[in-house]
Amino acid sequence: MCHGNESIMESKRVIERELKNMRDYFKSGKTKEASWRECQLQGLRRFLIEREQQISRVLLQDLGKHPVEAFRDEVGTVIKSINFALKNLREWMSGQKANLPQIALLTSAEIVPEPLGLVLIISSWNFPFGLSLEPLIGAIAAGNSVVLKPSELSSASSSLLASGLTQYLDNKAIKIVEGGPDVAQQLLDQTWDKIFFTGSSRVGRIVMSAAVKHLTPLTLELGGKCPALVDTLSSSWDLEVAVKRIIVGKYGTCAGQACIAVDYVLVERRFSSTLVELMKLWIKKMFGENPKETNTVARIVNKPHFFRLKSLLASAEVQKSVIYGGSIMDEENLFIEPTILVDPPLEAAIMTDEIFGPLLPIITVDKIEDGIEFINCRPKPLALYVFTKNKELQRRMICETSSGSVTFNDAILQYAADSLPFGGVGGSGFGSYHGKFSFETFSHQKAVVRRSFLTDFWFRFPPWTPNKLLLLQVAYNYDYLGLLLVLLGLKRPSKPISLF
Ligand code: NAD
Repeated sequence: MCHGNESIMESKRVIERELKNMRDYFKSGKTKEASWRECQLQGLRRFLIEREQQISRVLLQDLGKHPVEAFRDEVGTVIKSINFALKNLREWMSGQKANLPQIALLTSAEIVPEPLGLVLIISSWNFPFGLSLEPLIGAIAAGNSVVLKPSELSSASSSLLASGLTQYLDNKAIKIVEGGPDVAQQLLDQTWDKIFFTGSSRVGRIVMSAAVKHLTPLTLELGGKCPALVDTLSSSWDLEVAVKRIIVGKYGTCAGQACIAVDYVLVERRFSSTLVELMKLWIKKMFGENPKETNTVARIVNKPHFFRLKSLLASAEVQKSVIYGGSIMDEENLFIEPTILVDPPLEAAIMTDEIFGPLLPIITVDKIEDGIEFINCRPKPLALYVFTKNKELQRRMICETSSGSVTFNDAILQYAADSLPFGGVGGSGFGSYHGKFSFETFSHQKAVVRRSFLTDFWFRFPPWTPNKLLLLQVAYNYDYLGLLLVLLGLKRPSKPISLF
């Protein structure tokens, strides 16, 4: 017991010492240099290129990800984001001009982004590289010192990040700390200038209460249930495209263990059997008759998650709704076959909790518009997918529902867009990143005003008189020309100006 306490105290001392060194390094101004930021981003890219095969191997080990899926989600997309950041970095850093009210005569203003300082990134296991490195790109681009703690559940990936990636980066400013909740807790006890968390809402609450203690700004990238609403698509081509995109956005994305994977499908009752038949066909075409043998569906991350998913199907009521798959569940290999359910009970855990696995409920409604009410009765999703050509339905989905993003006629695609903010709303989190939004998430937008000594309006200084009030009212209501005309008596104020 005594030894335990001593070792906790010792590791606390080590963390504090390391963080002090990182703060001192940040204060030296090194991380603010554009060339330093570029050099780190280039190092990150070299790591991904030179260690691609190793990354693929550890992802196979941690999650059974097929190398193509591993490249798509954890290497290719991150290289694309680095290239985008490198291309735009100097422009982002240069800030932007801002307009001022005319009362501030001979004044210029600009918004200058400045790094926040020492930031903490805590990430999740399902995309151990993607979800660690995407925020890291933003933190580096913005000129911060960074501590990254990957998830302990994808341990081979975490260890490659800690031992491999650090060889490509300036370790005085960027550190990777491995460990589970206890290590995360020790880190959260420290003072940070920003915390960026990806994970569950349960742990998100713990992180938020730690941030509150020091008033630390926080981004929470959480999860939830992402619906896909499928309108009655009359063209067989459109339907086939929709089905292929839903299947890859579920079973072909870490076996549905993705925050933006399709969680359930909403469809009109009369159309559901057509949709389901085509889904069965395309699951077989994409993953083979025996997906376990083809190794094209990723594995469940660990036994607790395997049993959690198994238990979602356990009740007799839910079992009755399984119309495809649901029987091959290999505990040894942590494999669950792609499974489809039609209308499981809405109060069952499979419909109240985030599924995070290869089980896909199809929920039937009388009219597709009823899907809006269905979605609005539940927590706000991180992503909403709508397959329709109906412009009025598209308009209603945008205006009448709330979600982190809405994607029409595809799934997952929005994640790869550098031009779009990625993040949740309500229960799915707050704050956003990707592209310039990542840079802004890790920056403070500093307002800078430059004033000339030359001239001023006399009426902004006391002693106050009724005339000065009149002139202030005019000054705030008109542009320069209008103000000049009023002052010269050539224009009457358009609305009566009261003196008191
Ligand atoms: P998690 O919350 O269990 O773990 C996330 C991180 O928090 C890990 O690094 C873990 O070590 C740490 N952690 C765990 N317990 C902690 C504690 N008590 N105190 C401090 N830190 C602790 O989540 P997970 O299982 O890794 O991920 C699954 C969840 O994350 C799902 O809900 C999913 O939707 C969500 N998610 C969201 C996004 C997104 O971008 N919005 C991406 C991936 C996953």
